Amino acid sequence: MKRPKPEYHPPEEQLRLFPDITGNDLNGRGEEALRRPSPIYWHYGSDIKLPHRALQDYYMKQFEDKPELHDFDKKYGGRGARQHVERPDVPVEDSPERWAEKVKSHALSHEGDLVGIARIDPNWVFEGYELELPWIVMIGVAMDHAEISTAPELPSAVETMAQYNRGTRAARQVADFIQAQGYEARPHGGPMAGPMTLIPAAIQAGLGELGKHGSMINREYGSSFRLAGVMTNLPLIADAPDDFGADDFCVSCQVCRNACPPDAIFDDKQMVRGERKWFVDFDKCIPFFNDTQGCGICIAKCPWSRPGVAHSLAQRMTARRARNASGEHGDHD
Ligand code: SF4
Ligand code: SF4
Repeated sequence: MKRPKPEYHPPEEQLRLFPDITGNDLNGRGEEALRRPSPIYWHYGSDIKLPHRALQDYYMKQFEDKPELHDFDKKYGGRGARQHVERPDVPVEDSPERWAEKVKSHALSHEGDLVGIARIDPNWVFEGYELELPWIVMIGVAMDHAEISTAPELPSAVETMAQYNRGTRAARQVADFIQAQGYEARPHGGPMAGPMTLIPAAIQAGLGELGKHGSMINREYGSSFRLAGVMTNLPLIADAPDDFGADDFCVSCQVCRNACPPDAIFDDKQMVRGERKWFVDFDKCIPFFNDTQGCGICIAKCPWSRPGVAHSLAQRMTARRARNASGEHGDHD
């Protein structure tokens, strides 16, 4: 018999910090029209309207209280040099195909584990931000599954920050490479938000599919990876999304939903800013997330995240799709 999940009740101290507007409303749940996302968490500029700023401050307070997380950007290998290399006045000429090959090769030889390219959709840019650059090079860095399996304990949060640092270093290396060719490049790595939301770009760039837990699922690393990106005007070509069947798998899987202590994961897709997709209830997730330095249980428990599983699962799901498309029956995977 399945053991019932311990009940979770958000502490009064956090409930008092919630603004009048819900996070789900701010995220556009139930909205039929496409629109840009509203900044909600991980934005630090005081000029950015952030109704949940008090909750974000509450979260960040934990980082100050824990030596392993305090100043994480200066630990775990750091985040690389912030300054760009000098940009020559005359850009180097090459074809978009060749540039795409070069930036991908640079990312993979400078700490990136995954890389793909997407043309930036203006609807990915947060309200209140401007972004004139047409391309984003998306980079993924794998997380150590043994470490993230400790979620929601501290070692998982440390691993997450360490990999955000590595992703940022990779993005800064790619940005430096692009700048040295005479083009503009703006690197960004988490956990802080940049000018645009990264998951839709990562999906378009072929890094994976959106899972029921609101994070990505990749065909090699499952959900056990983090994102970084480089926005640029270097002429590039876009990759295609990689639909290998994770979405189909999520339809009948309940693992993250059953594991989430505050029951923040919906079983069905929701209409969010004009798109029906998997969506996490921000208002339920965030108090637990805040009290556990970033939780991450859903990512760790996802069957795709277990080392060695994603690749064969992706092959199985792809084969199943092909069989279903050709009208074959008798599939009981
Ligand atoms: S991060 Fe934690 S609280 Fe939030 S959806 Fe995942 S399991 Fe639930
Ligand atoms: S745990 Fe299951 S439902 Fe949740 S994201 Fe992973 S595959 Fe999808």
